[in-house]
This record gives sequence, C-alpha cells and structure tokens, in this order.
Amino acid sequence: MKKSKEQEEISGMEKYRFLFPEWKKRALTFSYDDCTECDRRLVDLFDRYHLKGTFHLNAGKLGTTGGDEDYILPDEVEALYEGHEVSCHGYFHPFFSELTKGQMLTELLEDKRTLERLCHYPVRGMSYPFGEFYDELVDVAKAVGMEYSRTVEDSMNFNLPTDFMRWNPTCHHNKVFSLLDDFLHAPDWLGLTLLYVWGHSFEFERENTWDMIEEFCKRISVRDEIWFATNIEIKEYLTAARGLVSTVDENIIYNPGGITVYLEHKGDRLTVEPRSFLRF
Ligand SMILES: [Zn+2]
Repeated sequence: MKKSKEQEEISGMEKYRFLFPEWKKRALTFSYDDCTECDRRLVDLFDRYHLKGTFHLNAGKLGTTGGDEDYILPDEVEALYEGHEVSCHGYFHPFFSELTKGQMLTELLEDKRTLERLCHYPVRGMSYPFGEFYDELVDVAKAVGMEYSRTVEDSMNFNLPTDFMRWNPTCHHNKVFSLLDDFLHAPDWLGLTLLYVWGHSFEFERENTWDMIEEFCKRISVRDEIWFATNIEIKEYLTAARGLVSTVDENIIYNPGGITVYLEHKGDRLTVEPRSFLRF
C-alpha cells in the first residue's frame, strides 16, 4: 500500500540527523592513564600523525622517580600535552573503595586543582584508577565538576556513549587491530561510530609494542572521514548535538548551545550555529 505524503514525512525521509564535525560519520579518541615518562614518546607519536589524545594524570605522582615507573615532571605538563587534553585520575592513584568520602573528595579535587594550575584551563574529566567505579564515587566525581569518567570495561563496539560518568571504551590498545577493519568499513546502518582506545603508555615499553601503536596511528591518520578528538571534545559535541531542539514537524531547529552542529537533511549537508535557527 502506498504511503500518504504525511506518512512518508513521518517515516524519516524528511528527518534531519546530526553528524560529527565536518559531517564526518566516524570518530576516534584515545585515553591514556598514569602520566609516566612514556607519555612523552606517545604524545610525540600522536603529534606526528595529527591525532589527539586525552591523558589522565595523577598530580601527586608528577616528578616522582624510583618506583615501578618514573613520572612526568610538573613543569613539563603544559607544554607536553599541548593540543591534547589533560584530565584527572586521582591525586595519588588511590583505591577509592578504601577511602572515606572526605578522602575521595580530596583525591579528586586536589588532582583537578593541581592540574589546572599547571595547564591553565579547567580540567573537566577523569578515568577511574584501577577501573573501580560505583554510585558513590560517581556522585563525588560529579560534585567536584567531572563531566565524564572512563571505565576499563571494553565494550568492543562503536556505539556512542550515553552515560558519560560510566563511559566504557571500545577496547584496550592491544585489541585495536582486531576491530580496525570493522571500524573502517562500518556499514551506514550502524549510524555514527566511535572508536575509543585506552591504555597506558608504559605498556608499549614493557611489552615492546611501540611499532604496533605506530602502525595503527599511521593507518588511521590518512583516513579523512574520521574525526580525531579528545574525550572532552566528544562529550562536548555530543551534548550540543543532542541538545538541539526542534518543532514536531522538524522543519525548524534551534541550537541553544555554544557549538556549531553539523547536520544531514535529505542528502544536504547543513550546519546550525550556536543560538541560531535553521528552517527547512
Ligand atoms: Zn591508572
């Protein structure tokens, strides 16, 4: 049976959808914990291939040496991670489950405050030390202003995050080649896809896998269809895109946020600017 015009409009032909910046349909983000000296080599690698990473730092460990690992110096934080994102990971990398609520607050707040004084911008996210996360910790993290926090639960899929405070990555870097082809050739019906890779830079040294991550960076960096972003850029953009408001008829869209959102509508590529309307 043939659909009426109204039914056809409702069935989706007329609908708009948001895409990633510059109308891209795939995004890649990296997330690296613990701020050890191997971050220097990893940042250098990301810079060479024009990729972006988020680095989760333990401010209380900066400059310390002599343990299992040597750590980045406080004075080099700002310059080293320039163009990437500095994020929290607890002041002393604690087991949060062994702390009082007051200690939890101090661990997060002092990490955030110290990192902000070093890199001169608001530090807005974190990853959970030892992968521990539970409702009380999430509440404390939100209370000190964390906007997202990464777990170590590999989703092994490319779905967009819906709970930024329990943000499951796609996979640890050791598994990334097993998913790379699926990511690069994801069919359109999968919608927007995000590959979120996490790990520790010292693992490349310990496991002698620097060549592996370099090969990955090399192969992915030539793909123009991928948006390379930090964790907070993904969070900020998705929040803006999901925050668009429209009429029920979807013929008038308003962007109440502060970021340009990229749209597709009947095959056309459009943008809706901050605090502006778009009318079809
Ligand atoms: Zn850690």
